[in-house]
Amino acid sequence: MKFMKLKRILLTSALLIAAYGSLQAQQTQVIAHRGFWQTPGSAQNSITALVKADSIRCYGSEFDVWLTADNRLVVNHDDIFKGVSSQDATEAVCTAVRLDNGEPMPTLRQYALKSRELSTRLILELKPHRTPEQETRAAEGIVRMIHDYGLDGRVEYISFSLHAVKEFIRLAPAGTPVYYLNGELDPQALKDLGCAGADYEQSVFRQHPEWIEQCHALGMKVNVWTVNRAEDMEWLIEHKVDYITTNEPLLLQQILQKNQK
Ligand code: MG
Repeated sequence: MKFMKLKRILLTSALLIAAYGSLQAQQTQVIAHRGFWQTPGSAQNSITALVKADSIRCYGSEFDVWLTADNRLVVNHDDIFKGVSSQDATEAVCTAVRLDNGEPMPTLRQYALKSRELSTRLILELKPHRTPEQETRAAEGIVRMIHDYGLDGRVEYISFSLHAVKEFIRLAPAGTPVYYLNGELDPQALKDLGCAGADYEQSVFRQHPEWIEQCHALGMKVNVWTVNRAEDMEWLIEHKVDYITTNEPLLLQQILQKNQK
C-alpha cells in the first residue's frame, strides 16, 4: 500500500516535471526592433510604431532612450537625428524634431503613458552616453518613471553600455530582466553580473552557438538582433532562442506559425 502511494507520488512528480519542461520549451517570441515601423503611417521609435507592434501582438516593442541636456528622457535611435544631438539639446528642441511619419520625437513619458493602454512589453534600450554620470541619471529617471506609470512588470532593460546595465540591475525592482548587448561576455560572466541573459547580434551566436544552451543551462534567456532574413530566423528558431528582435515582425510570425504546423 505504502509502495503504491510512493509510486503515485513519483508519477505525479514526473508529470509535473514534464509539464514544466514543455513550458520551458516555449516558442521563440517576436520583438519589433524600434517598434513596427515598416508599415504605412509608422516610423522608427514613433508612438505609432509602438501601437502597431502591439496591434500585431508582438511579445515586445524595442525602442531607444536618451537623456537630454536638461535631464529629460526622449525616445530616438540616433546620436544626431536631423541635425539635433539629443544629449546636447533640451527636451523642447528634441521634441520639435519631426519623425519621418510627421510625429514629434516622443518623450519617454509619452511612451509610458501610451503603454498603459497596450499589452506589448517595453524593451527599453538606454543608448551609451558621453559620461557614466549621464547614464546613471538616465537609469534613475527611467526606473522611477516606469514605476510611476505602473509598468514595472512590463519592462526589460537593454544597453551596449556595461555601466548602464549594472545601474539597471542595481536600481530596478528585483526580477526585472536586464540584458547586455555588446556581445563579448560569455554566459557565465552575464550570470555573475545579474543579467537575465544574452541579447547579442546574430553573428555572436553563429560564432558561439554553444552559448545558447549554456545560457539556458544557467537559467537565462537568449535574445538575438537584428534578424531580418527568413533563413537566419529559421536557424535561430531551430537553436531554440527565446526572442528574436527584427525589423520584419510579420515575416517572423509567419515562419513561427508555419513551424508550429
Ligand atoms: Mg535599439
